[in-house]
Formats: sequence, structure tokens, C-alpha cells
Amino acid sequence: MIEMKINFVDLKRQYEAIKGEIDACVNRVITSCNFVLGDEVNKFEEEFAAYCKSRFCVGVGSGTDALRLSLLAAGISSGDEVITVPNTFIATTLAISEVNAKIKFVDIDPETYTIDAARIEKAISEKTKAILPVHLYGNAADMAPIMEIAEKNNLAVIEDACQAHGADYKGKKVPTGNIGCFSFYPGKNLGCYGDGGAIVTNNEEIAEKIKMLRNYGQKIRYHHLIKGTNSRLDTIQAAVLRVKLRYIEKWNGSRRRHAKLYNELLGGVVELPVEKEYAKHVYHLYVIRTKKRDELQGYLSKKGIASLIHYPIPIHLQKAYSDLNLGEGSFPITERYANEILSLPMFPELADEEIAYICESIKEFVSSQNR
Ligand SMILES: *Cc1c(COP(=O)(O)O)cnc(C)c1O
Repeated sequence: MIEMKINFVDLKRQYEAIKGEIDACVNRVITSCNFVLGDEVNKFEEEFAAYCKSRFCVGVGSGTDALRLSLLAAGISSGDEVITVPNTFIATTLAISEVNAKIKFVDIDPETYTIDAARIEKAISEKTKAILPVHLYGNAADMAPIMEIAEKNNLAVIEDACQAHGADYKGKKVPTGNIGCFSFYPGKNLGCYGDGGAIVTNNEEIAEKIKMLRNYGQKIRYHHLIKGTNSRLDTIQAAVLRVKLRYIEKWNGSRRRHAKLYNELLGGVVELPVEKEYAKHVYHLYVIRTKKRDELQGYLSKKGIASLIHYPIPIHLQKAYSDLNLGEGSFPITERYANEILSLPMFPELADEEIAYICESIKEFVSSQNR
């Protein structure tokens, strides 16, 4: 095999393909000198809401803020409990902590790596106010049972869709519940050229509240109705996102084709991601599992192949959350998977020959282990 060097993501390939459009739109904003909110942001919000087949979209400063402001808009505050999973990016739980609510973890479904709906009811107390499922890796959580439990117990549902732009649940784009939170961090399926985020909802009251919260609590300048903050989607970022939104379906299609090729080449070699009949996975990450994870990662690195672990330490075992006093053994599936998961290179512009090289290298490693 000829040696290759394969990055985990390669934003440069994408920029080069759409350079003309991106440069023109950034220039347009700079020339207009309209840097905060305004027409580009409104238009992106309309277009992204339409893409998600939802009524409203509100652009904010990051995915973390999308989650935090959603929790605030849903009335979650000090002493309330929010149910989520320990295998996620820490931003999910930081948002809960920032509104002074209490995190109640439940373990994941071993097949989908998303919240195990069957475990939710046991975690509900009289203080529980919301469920925060994470559509991890671009794969929608099983929303039907979650919504049923939420309705029965009068809980808000806030979906962390930061990795799931364009993912389907039962033929509909997420969010399929009440509120969906997106991140436009550069490496996400829909990424801007800095930080950015958005909330998508059909609930007008929530959308209006978040519009105020992101802009110092005002609707009319200098008339502050609530104590808000400053968390707006930059106009330049909105312009970039409007260009990239026109490609997202094509790019997600490429990710799905790459995943299919990976699945074909790695079947029977390692544990593969599972796409349930209710989901259309958009493979923000392509995550395999193997007991010899660290050795495999080292081997791939020597072959010039980058890989990452999402995530190596479950949230309840992070130092930042030592106050929760949840030791090892609290969430066995999450903990076991943290030692076995490995994310392989995944981005739309990845070439089939690169995937073939990665899979050949993995097979070489596995057969060397069996020898
Ligand atoms: C990226 C991400 C976030 C946070 O988004 P930022 O824009 O980086 O603040 C939250 N949750 C998940 C699951 C993410 O992947």
C-alpha cells in the first residue's frame, strides 16, 4: 500500500470548492458595514427554519448558548433537575450547570449510543423539569418514547442537535420535539468560520423569548424587559452559513456514502455504528468500537491516519463534575464504550481511496492481533 496522510477533518478542501461564493458573501457584509444582526441573519434564520421544516430559528453565539438560552426560555432555574446522558460533549451539561439546574444522568442505549428512553422514568423526581436528549454523532435519539414520557410528566424537551444538522427521525428533520439546539462550530456538518449556534422551534413564545435573551433582554432598543445577555449569531457567520446551507444535503449525502463504504469494508472486523429504522444518520462522526482501541489508534497514527475519541472521559468522571460524587460504575455502558470507541476520518470531501486505505490499515492491525 502507498502511504497516505489523512486528516480527521479537512476544512480546506471544502473552502477551496466554494471559495468564490464564500469570499463574495463575506465581502458583501464587510462592504455593508452591518456586522450585528440585520438582513443576513434574518434570512439565514428563515432559511434554516425552512430547512428543518420548523416555524422559527433564532441565531445565537454558539451551540452552548443555544442550549443555555433554551433552558432559560423554558423556565429552568436553580434547583430544577434536567435529565441527560453522560456520554456527550461537555457543553451539554455545562449549559445545565450555567442555569444552576441539577444534572440527572441516565445511561445510553448500547446500540445507538443515545439516551435509553427505558431508563428515563426512574430518573424523574418532583424536581425534574426537562429532558435533554443528545443526537450524538449525527444519529437521532428515539424521540417518540421520550416525548411520551415528557408529556405524561409535564417536562420540557430540549434536543441537543449540535451534531445532527439534517438528521431525520421517522422521516422528519430534527428537532422533532419542542426545541432543537444547533452549533455551527467550523467542523460541524453545517459549520461557519468561527463560533455560532441556533435554536429551532415551532413555539413562537420560546422563539420570542430567546430573541430577547440573546440581545440584552430587549425587543426595542434600550427597553429591557428581562435580564438578557449578548449572544448573537454574527452577520458574517450568517452570510457564510447561507452559502453552506445550499450544500448541506449534498454533503450529508457524501457522509452517508462514506459510512456505507466504511461499513462494507469493516463488517466483521470491528463494531460498526447502527442506523435504526427510524433514523437517517448524518455521520457527523463515524465511530467504531474495538477492545484494542488504544493500540489501534497508535497503529493508525503510524500509518498517517488521524483518529479521535468522542469522548474519552464520561462527563460524570470529569474533574469539573467531581461535585456530583458519581464514581466509576455509575453508568456502565457509557464507561465501557469510552474505552472502546474510535472516530475515523469523516468529512464530505474524503475520497474512496482514502477510506479504502484506512480500512486496509485497520484490517492489517486486527489480523496482526489474531496471529
Ligand atoms: C459542538 C457541541 C456543542 C457545543 O457547541 P459550541 O458551538 O461549540 O458551543 C454542544 N453539544 C454537542 C453534542 C456538541 O457536539
